[in-house]
Formats: sequence, structure tokens, C-alpha cells
Amino acid sequence: MRVFAGLLLLAGTMWGQTDPVERLLADLTNAFGPTGYEGPVRQVMRREMAPLVDRLETDGLGSLIAIREGPANAPKVMLAAHMDELGMIVRYITPDGFIKFQTLGGWLDGALINQRYIVQTRKGPVLAVSGLKTPHVMTGDERSRLRGRDSIFLDVGATSKQDAEDRLGIRPGDPIAPDSKFVVMAGGKRYLAKAWDDRVGLGVIVEAMRKLKGVPLPCSVYAVATVQEEVGLRGAHTATYQVRPDIGISLESGVAGDYPGISPDEAQERLGYGPGIFLHDSSMLPNLKLRDFFAQAASDKGIPLQYNVLSGYGEDGAEMQRRFAGIPAINFTVPTRYLHNHNGIIQRDDFDRAVELLVEVLKRLDAAAVARLKQFD
Ligand SMILES: [Zn+2]
Repeated sequence: MRVFAGLLLLAGTMWGQTDPVERLLADLTNAFGPTGYEGPVRQVMRREMAPLVDRLETDGLGSLIAIREGPANAPKVMLAAHMDELGMIVRYITPDGFIKFQTLGGWLDGALINQRYIVQTRKGPVLAVSGLKTPHVMTGDERSRLRGRDSIFLDVGATSKQDAEDRLGIRPGDPIAPDSKFVVMAGGKRYLAKAWDDRVGLGVIVEAMRKLKGVPLPCSVYAVATVQEEVGLRGAHTATYQVRPDIGISLESGVAGDYPGISPDEAQERLGYGPGIFLHDSSMLPNLKLRDFFAQAASDKGIPLQYNVLSGYGEDGAEMQRRFAGIPAINFTVPTRYLHNHNGIIQRDDFDRAVELLVEVLKRLDAAAVARLKQFD
């Protein structure tokens, strides 16, 4: 891990991030963290959260729980954003030294092709590329056909299975993640990176807690960086039992529907129109009073807010919502383009507005407000 951290530091310097938020988002998105191997992301979150909270815990699955105590008997608000990104693990190495893999999370077959990846081995990171047959040898029919994931392999430059194992240290189960670095686009207005899903949610948590440092809060905040979201919200499930929250707020990358080939029938968020609230996804319907609570705080502070109704998607809010006897929960998002790919885009002012609104909501979640949210007439 030390080698990798060194590389990240170098990458950060190379791109010359001087803005502290850009530096944070670069560290979070550049960190290697496919599902089940969230260690490097957890280290970034430990470093960032330690000065902002009273104590840090982990649960038995690896989620990091940063706790800021409120007054005695204050309601507990759980914030959840997941550390894991889409990735793979090594399934086996072919006799010629190519890597066949098991995917982790919802990859599109087409997104896997001809990209760079990092295989994290016991000897350090190894660069890999997903090979694709040259069109020179293809029939016309073959050229227009998309390759299925079973035919995709990784080339690490090894000459044989033994070379891959002995020299590069690759073993079955080694984690693999996209190799794609954070870049400032459009003169600082937009950011390109891998893993906005859900490093942007982690970034919102860190920045909100930083703004709240030294500011009295009427609630206790349990800021949870969860593991294994992309394979079925597993980390949020166990962390919720450890926290026992009164309110659950999932911080996520939203789904922007503002580029060619996607329509409002599929997603309604747009970059630059503020943070989003999900009114439906395949995992959860939000608590309606909590939705209105966010909307009221946004309107009082003049923060633009968007809504999204998706037929697919799933998020940690669903796990918080249905634990114990039921917990009011919501999914609060930063609109993001091109999720689950090597390169996604967010807009800086959407991020800033999301931080602002989360800060305002936490300031308002006192015992009386939480009691109202939990009450059904
Ligand atoms: Zn996500």
C-alpha cells in the first residue's frame, strides 16, 4: 500500500491541486478500493475524519464509523456513503500469463473493454490492460458486435503463468480496479474521475463535518463510510446494527440525464442544477417528511434542489430504512454523468451546494424535529 500511496501523492502533485476540496476529491477518487478491498479509501477517510469527530470505530465487515456526540439523549443521525468502487478479482491466470477475472458490481460489458486497470498484488500494484482483438482480422459482422465479458481478459505484460505469479506476484483473488486519475475540467467548473460513485458522497460528508467543526449540533452524527455497497448494500446492513440510528441519510452520486442518448424518462437530474433527492429507486422510497425537511431547508437557504425518479439503482438508504422497526431515510445526491465507468463527471457547485444543505439539515435535526419525522398520523 505504501507504494501506491506514493503514486497517488505524485499524481496529486502532477495535476497541481491547490484547492483543498479538489485535493480531497482527488485523494478519494484516485484511491484504490474495489468492493471488498476498501482499505486505501478507509485510510483517507480515517485521516480526514479523525480531527472532526470524537471517535472512530469499525464494524465487523470493515465500515468506518466516525462519531460526533451531541448533547445527552440527542437523536442519532447516520450518514452513509460507500467506499467501494466497481472492480474485479483475479479468477485464474492462463498458461500464457493472461488474467481472467470475476467482476464486482454492475459493469456494462462494453465499459470493460480496452481500458487500463491496476491489479493490487502482494508485491505492489501491477498495470493491466483489457485486451481486444485487432479489427484487421475481424469479419464485418464481428467488427460491429460488442464483446461479452467472458471473452475479456487482462494483459499484464507477463510471458507465462509462472512469470505472472513469480515475477509480478499475481494470485487468484487479487483485487483489480480501474486506472483513471482525477482531472480538473472546464477551468475548475467540472471534475473528471473514476469512482464518483460513491467517493463524492464521502467528500460531501467530510466537507460538511469540517464546516460543522466547533459549531454546536442538536444531534449526534454517525458518519459511516460503508463497504461492499456495489454487491448488495452489505456494509450499510451491518453498520446500521452497530449505530442504531434514528434517521438515515444516504449520500450518493446521482444519475444525470443530461447528455446525448439518455432521456428524462430514465433520469431527471442535470449537472449544475444543485444536489438531488431520490423519490424512487429500485431499493427504496424515501420518508416523505424527511424529503420535505430537506426541501424546506433548501428553500430557506436559497439552495437549488432537484428530484430524481429512477426505475433501477440501489443505495445504502434502503438498508438503513428497513432495520429494526423502520428508520426514516433519504437518498441525497450529487448529480453525476457516466456512472460505473472509468470516467465520470461532476460539477463543483453541485458538490458545494450539497455540502451546504447537509450542514443546514444537521443543524435542524433536534430531538423535536426527529420525533416529528418518526411519527405517522
Ligand atoms: Zn453508489
